[in-house]
Amino acid sequence: MTAPRRPPTAKSPYADSKVPTAKAKAPLSEIDRWYDRMPWRRCKASVLTCNPICQRLLENGEQCHNAARIVHHLISPHVARSFFFDWRILVALCPEHHETTEGENLTAPHRYAITNGLLGATADPNAIIWRLQQGLLPQ
Ligand SMILES: [Zn+2]
Repeated sequence: MTAPRRPPTAKSPYADSKVPTAKAKAPLSEIDRWYDRMPWRRCKASVLTCNPICQRLLENGEQCHNAARIVHHLISPHVARSFFFDWRILVALCPEHHETTEGENLTAPHRYAITNGLLGATADPNAIIWRLQQGLLPQ
């Protein structure tokens, strides 16, 4: 007696490959998911609207001339999530000047131009970095 015949089935071309798939990714943390939500998109759009030019100051003290596209947290949201939407700790950067560090590297911080907020408000990222270096939170 032979096994019953079965119809041929399609096999995924990736079934035996080492190509990573979406399933192989680590699950996103709660903080990571905030980046996909509307409150952050609005916050980011507001920061970029108020600060359309990259805020990084170059070696010669001149501000970068590139268009800002990325909003960088000076304090990693993974360290202090209560500052996630605080515009004072956000700086608008071009892709070239955005580093993927978690927050600002306080041992070798960069210098930034003043951050413009809504209704003429301003914040000095360099003063905030100085406070963070002293172990203080922004006022
Ligand atoms: Zn730049």
